[in-house]
Order: sequence, then C-alpha cells, then structure tokens
Amino acid sequence: MDEEKVLKATSGNHNLDNYEQTYENFNWDEVNKAFSWNETGKVNIAYEAIDRHAENPKKKGQVALHYASPDREEKLTFEDLSKRSNQFANVLKKKGIKKGDRVFLFMPRSPEFYASFLGILKLGAIAGPLFEAFMEQAVHDRLEDSEATMLITTPDLLNRVPVDQLPDLKQIVLVGDSSDIKDGYIDYHQEMESASDDFDIEWVDLEDGMLIHYTSGSTGKPKGVYHVHNAMIQHYQTGQWVLDLKEGDVYWCTADPGWVTGTSYGIFAPWLNGVTNVVVGGRFTPEAWYGALDKYNVTVWYSAPTAFRKLMSAGKDAVQKHDLSSVRHILSVGEPLNPEVIHWGMKAFNLRIHDTWWMTETGAQLICNYPSMDIRPGSMGKPIPGVEASIVDDEGNELPPNRMGNLAIKEGWPAMMRAIWKRPEKYESYFLNGWYVSGDSAYRDEDGYFWFQGRLDDVINTSGERVGPFEVESKLIEHEAVSEAGVIGKPDPERGEIIKAFISLNEGYEESDELLEDIRQFVKTGLAGHAAPREMEVTNAIPKTRSGKIMRRLLKARELGLPEGDTSTLEE
Ligand code: ATP
Ligand code: MG
Repeated sequence: MDEEKVLKATSGNHNLDNYEQTYENFNWDEVNKAFSWNETGKVNIAYEAIDRHAENPKKKGQVALHYASPDREEKLTFEDLSKRSNQFANVLKKKGIKKGDRVFLFMPRSPEFYASFLGILKLGAIAGPLFEAFMEQAVHDRLEDSEATMLITTPDLLNRVPVDQLPDLKQIVLVGDSSDIKDGYIDYHQEMESASDDFDIEWVDLEDGMLIHYTSGSTGKPKGVYHVHNAMIQHYQTGQWVLDLKEGDVYWCTADPGWVTGTSYGIFAPWLNGVTNVVVGGRFTPEAWYGALDKYNVTVWYSAPTAFRKLMSAGKDAVQKHDLSSVRHILSVGEPLNPEVIHWGMKAFNLRIHDTWWMTETGAQLICNYPSMDIRPGSMGKPIPGVEASIVDDEGNELPPNRMGNLAIKEGWPAMMRAIWKRPEKYESYFLNGWYVSGDSAYRDEDGYFWFQGRLDDVINTSGERVGPFEVESKLIEHEAVSEAGVIGKPDPERGEIIKAFISLNEGYEESDELLEDIRQFVKTGLAGHAAPREMEVTNAIPKTRSGKIMRRLLKARELGLPEGDTSTLEE
C-alpha cells in the first residue's frame, strides 16, 4: 500500500485501542455485563437507554436531548425523557395498545417524536418511524404492509394518510395545537397532560420485536425490516468502539429516524452509552450545520457523504465563520465515502472522516474505520470484533484477496434483522451457505481492508471490464469543476455497456465541450481508459433518496426511457 495514501491512526485514549487483539479475543457475551438485565433478567431497550440513567442520581439531570430547529429549541434531561415516555406509554395503554402491536410515527423530528418512540418501546409495542416527506402512496404502502393499528402524526401531514383505505388503522394521535385537532382524533398534548409519569414498563424477551424499518428503496420496492431488543448489545458496543463515545461527549447524528441510522445511531447508541444527543430539525444549509457543531460544542459527529460533499462545495468561508474545535471524531455512512471528501475533512477539521458500512438489514455497523487504526481513503475499513466478513462467489465460496465478489457476513451478529415483515421467502433469499449476502460488491485487500465497489445491480460491464460506478464518481468529483456525479452503465451493442456520467458543476463553471473533454481526460489519466465516461451530461438534479444516496437505478431508467419503478423515497 502506498504509504502516502494512508492516514495514520490517531493517538489518544480510544475505547478500542488495539483492534487486532480485540478482534482475536472478543466474545459478544462480554457485553451483557453492560446491561441491567444481565442481573435482573428484565429486558427492555428503552429502559437501558433512558430509565437506567434517570434512576442514577449522577446522570438524571444530564441533558439527554438537545433539540434545535429553526423555530424551536428545547433541552430534555434523562429524567425528563423518562417521564415523558412514561406518560406516552400510559396514553397508549389507555387506548388499548398491547405488546407486539405496530404503532407508526409519521412526523418531523421533535421532542414529541422521541417521547412517543420510547413510549412505544416501553409498552413492548413495535415502532415504525416514517420519514415526514413521504407522499400518500408511500405512507399507504407501509401502513398497509405492517398492519399498523395506530399512527402518530401531525395535523399538517394528516392529508397524506389515506385513512379510509387502511382498515387496520384504528386510531390516530395528532401532535399539534388543540384547535387543529378534529373530532375522532386523539389530541397528543391533551392526553399527555392527564397521563401519569409513572409507568410499569413491559419487560420483554431479547428476541421480542421493537422496530420495523422500511428500507430506503435505492434498488426497488421498500421492505419491512424487523428488529428485536437484542440489537441493543451491538448498538451499545459499536457506540463504544466505532463512535468512540465517552462520558461527557456531545454527539450529533444527522440522520432522520425514518432511516435506520437515525434510530440505531440517532437514538440507541448514544443513549445506551449515556451520552448527550443533539437533534437538528429543519433543512440542511451549511450555515445551520456548521452553526450546530459550534453552538452545541459537538464532540462526535456522524453524517453522510452527500452532506460532506455539500459542505465541501460551500467552500472555506462557510467553515471559517465557526469555531469547530470541539469536534474530535467524525464518521460517515450510507454511501461510499469518496477519498476527496476525506482529504477535504483533513483540511476543514484537521480530522479523519471514518467510513462505516452497514445496512438496514444488519441493524448496526459491521465494517468500519476506527480511531486507533490507519485509514486507507476509499476503504470502508475492517469488520468489528465479533463479526466475520468475507467476499464470496455466487455459490457462497470464499474468494481470495483482491477478487471482487459479494460482500458477505457470517450469520448471527446481535443486531441482525429477524425477519422481512410477512415475507419469509424474501428473508431466506439473503442467506447462502451460512453467509448473509449483502447485495453489495467489494473486495478485500491482503491486509484485510474492505473496498466497496458498488451495488450488484450497479456494477458496469464495459468491454469485458467490471467497473464500480463509485470509483468513477469519486474520480469525477476530484476534478475542480465537478461537485456531484452519478455514473451508470448504458447498453451498447459493441461494448456490452458504456459508462455514462451525470455531473453537477461547481459554482463558477460553465458547461462547454472543452470542459467535458478535460473532465474525461482527467478520469482517463487518473483512473483508467476504460473507466472514462463515453457520455457525459451536465445536470443540477442528480436524483437521490431522502437519506442522500444517488439513485443510479433511476438515472438509468430515465436514460433508457424505462418505467421509473418505486420513487417514494426520492428527494424533491
Ligand atoms: P434498498 O435495499 O431498499 O434498495 P438501501 O439499500 O439504499 O435500500 P439502506 O439499508 O439504507 O437501504 O442502505 C444500505 C446500503 O447503502 C448498502 O447496501 C450499501 O449499498 C450502501 N452503503 C451504506 N454504507 C456504505 C458505505 N460506508 N460505503 C458504501 N456503501 C454504503
Ligand atoms: Mg439495500
């Protein structure tokens, strides 16, 4: 490995200070000691995340949630959050909700969201968070599939809930001004006022359900991924090793809880570790985001490549207005992290950005970069201790280093999904020969670092060469004129497929034949002749999911004039 390209491990006290040694010796049973159920036999993830701290005189007054949106700011301690979620659990109980029932949430991030979400878990019911921007069809499909009996939403969003087409949906709680609550609906604030803040939490089994996430749908129809309380073991432990959370940290995960990152790492990992959690509502702007890091003195920050790329193209001025010196650890997830972005991070923060790879189905981080480990920009890192990862062929046989194949995980890590809701055959289809097969292609180098190549559906086959679109996109955005890129394979009679790139230009650049040729040459000389796009199109609207993933499937469908398929997760 070219030493120039390695970013050395950082010094300091890290929770995981010797990766290799821990990997050799670690056993998941060791983590059980961190939880009260280890002694009491009484399990509930909401208890471990909130009530346990609220019962601790030293922790109960600590801010658990710093909420900030353009028009509202609020602080809740662990004790506040414990009481409010108790109140909501009492409301649910009064309305007849029982263990195992599905209660969905369709609303923006707010203190009420977090109190309700935790209240649902305290009752042993199953929470289903939906992203606020979903339109009617998307809301309908998810509520119908899950057979949710209760929905928590706002008066504003109610017109996107086709109540008369959802026979299972019996009750709707509205979070809003009482003047906006129509007859037949449950008034959140009114019910909360009269509800006791004492609640006998429902003790459950580690294998009982707690959450259904419908995946973002980069590749097709959303599926209900079902998770159980046992996931807390991995949420807690990766919070230690990967997020490197410590007493006194202020942590900000930018993901919406409609996506798995916003629950596993926006709710569970920080609170299971007793850390102050920042939630920022409202739209992304560089000003608001740098401002939040500064204002709350965020120490650990978990975001996504699309956000980093936007901050990068906002330029130096935006950074210099803020004091970002509190930040000590930065992480990324959701899409491949372009090396260019890591180099920008070194300039803007003087910190490495740590890529983490995992999926809705995996429930928690699996392959990551750790503070105590050298980073190879472009690599997603190495499996967490307790997890075996490999590259397998289509029969499930392991491949040697440097061979591209299916990224696969040995079955049985704590946070693994336990079902695809009502689709057992879909669930079974993930497994082959004892491996969970991810649907991503990757290779592993001689030193055990994993390198993402693309979603299997995205891999391009041009003149017999297999090209991962991510590598081409990463090279494209290294060019000074390019801010974002989406790359697809386009059928070609001669070459099988040719590479077509959709690019957005940075401010100050005009489209011209010379510029496009210059960009092409840049990829040709910097990456490979066969990887240079034969076609290029300038656009300022590269389609992305709301969680920020480039929707290559949609770029391709549009290019080829094919049906667009499910677009419920498309960002406007
Ligand atoms: P669907 O499965 O419904 O099409 P999705 O795969 O986009 O949706 P998620 O579970 O949110 O839904 O995303 C997981 C996928 O995101 C991974 O399979 C991978 O393709 C991509 N991904 C996540 N993290 C990384 C990363 N660090 N590097 C590269 N790709 C990543
Ligand atoms: Mg997926």
